[in-house]
Amino acid sequence: MKILITGGNGFIGSNLTKLLLESNHQVIVIDNFYSSKENNFQDNKFTFINHDIINEMPNIECDLIFHLACPASPKVYLKDTLYTLDVNYIGTKNVLDFAKIKSIPVVFSSTSEIYGDPHISPQDEQYTGNVYPPSLRSSYDEGKRVAETLMYNYHINHRVPIQIVRLFNTYGPKMDPDDGRVVSNFIMQGLNKEPMSIYGDGSQTRSLCYIDDITSALYKLIIQWPAYEAPINLGNNHEMKIIDIANFISESLNIEKNYIYKELPEHDPKTRKPDNNKARKLLKWKPKISLKDGIEKTIEYFKNLD
Ligand code: UDP
Repeated sequence: MKILITGGNGFIGSNLTKLLLESNHQVIVIDNFYSSKENNFQDNKFTFINHDIINEMPNIECDLIFHLACPASPKVYLKDTLYTLDVNYIGTKNVLDFAKIKSIPVVFSSTSEIYGDPHISPQDEQYTGNVYPPSLRSSYDEGKRVAETLMYNYHINHRVPIQIVRLFNTYGPKMDPDDGRVVSNFIMQGLNKEPMSIYGDGSQTRSLCYIDDITSALYKLIIQWPAYEAPINLGNNHEMKIIDIANFISESLNIEKNYIYKELPEHDPKTRKPDNNKARKLLKWKPKISLKDGIEKTIEYFKNLD
């Protein structure tokens, strides 16, 4: 297949590109380097188009789109919240208009953030979430929610084949060391002999999924097309407190625990854990990489950065 990936130079996109190329697909990457560095790719066996999706899509021949383009870490999506909203609404609309003209399917990477600060745990796909619209963080939460709504309405009104996947916290090689996420921050701080920055008291939880588990699920999704239409959670349900993630990374780095406590960001969700039963059943998929192996591979990646 000839597969177009919007945001294909980002963390998820560059790992997905690698897997698709290894599986003998052709890949076309669209990216504008808003939230990724230009050196994410080691090889050039794909076509690259420097394009911002808030502008009309260029004319490209392809069979399927992975629509991943969006600033995704809190540090980056809070830099320009109106741009974050534009990418999600105008950008997704441009991608869907293009898919409609070409009559091709779109897989959209939504996020666990659409559940906001959840009142239930684990979060299954039926949960409607707890998001506060007049807040900075909601530029991402609500942006992704309206993008899901656009996907659904293009499917209903224009019969664009769609699949929405909600990705939970993902980590691994090709993460940007400066994007402010918990795993990259803790590893880089540990390697640089700085204290790890714990926001709040560290009792909030996240469930970390290694990147290869996510890309293998995305791949299974397209080879098992037709789409299931309703959203699917993709993530590892091994839930941990942030303080325990810091302890785990300190032990993996073989360093003394050294923490500095900082203010909890506004509307930072207190819990997050996917109910991933739907993905397990429909895709015959489950996360395979243990936290130990995943963190070791990620540490190796960060150690070898230029
Ligand atoms: N966090 C932290 N220290 C950091 C970065 C993040 O304690 O240096 C916390 C953050 O407050 C949140 C969790 O770790 O509760 C995950 O943050 P991240 O930005 O990785 O992803 P999020 O799930 O918030 O999008």
